Amino acid sequence: MHPQTIGEFTVQSVIEHVAPYIAATEMLPSSTPEALAEHMDWMAPTHIDPATGFLIMAFQSFVLQTPNHTILIDTCVGEDKERSSPDWHMKKWPWMGNLTALGLTPEDIDIVMCTHLHPDHVGWNTQLLDGRWVPTFPNARYVFAKDEYHHWEQESARGAERIGLTFIDSVLPVMEAGQAILVDHDHEIEKGVWLEPTPGHSPGHVVVNVESQGQRGAFIGDLMHHPIQVPHADWSTCYCWDFEMSAASRTKFVDHHTDAGTLILPVHFAGGTAGQIVDAGGTPKFAFAAE
Ligand SMILES: [Zn+2]
Repeated sequence: MHPQTIGEFTVQSVIEHVAPYIAATEMLPSSTPEALAEHMDWMAPTHIDPATGFLIMAFQSFVLQTPNHTILIDTCVGEDKERSSPDWHMKKWPWMGNLTALGLTPEDIDIVMCTHLHPDHVGWNTQLLDGRWVPTFPNARYVFAKDEYHHWEQESARGAERIGLTFIDSVLPVMEAGQAILVDHDHEIEKGVWLEPTPGHSPGHVVVNVESQGQRGAFIGDLMHHPIQVPHADWSTCYCWDFEMSAASRTKFVDHHTDAGTLILPVHFAGGTAGQIVDAGGTPKFAFAAE
């Protein structure tokens, strides 16, 4: 697989796993079987399992290499974590092997950026060493959007267990190690790499925008979970914190980036690393880039 390029920048994917995950109508409560059927020709079998009707989801991180930094964006579910979801509980994955296959070690990561602080985006922030959670990337600065961090800090403090554990084992140890920095939701990480607030899936969710030599890219986290949300940007998922706000952020993004040439990097789309939103006869659709 070749790296994707955005001007001088390169992007590579580090896959944790890809699997049929959840029934389409369960994950997308606004969808209907009839509306889904209209898209079955391109969705099956890569994006939906025709036998079960389960949407196929990828879990992956992205390594963005600029002339200045190696930046890891979103860190998947991670290993050895106690989670309420059996899909994520005490798992082992080939993720670290997939990172090292790119010729990178944890020491090489300069910056870790989480688009939001859900369990499947912060997992590899930490690893278990001698019974303690320690930052996986010893030389990295971990960048968290301030409003997202404070939201989950409060949730954790009030004992919301699922997220509370996530904050305690995958976010707090980074802060305690002095490796975290809290930034505004429009922070510039370096020239050509900046955050944009896209609230709704979570309160402080951000997209990471990049621009190099006139080319644009966007790491969209969970602004979308599945390519069906390009033509149906109004369909929020059952995982969204505020359905209407999530739909508004997503619709604005799709409108802005249709036929704009932006290379879009979605964490959860199966079937490819990146793509563009193109107008297909009046309906936006996701077109995967060659790899
Ligand atoms: Zn996610």
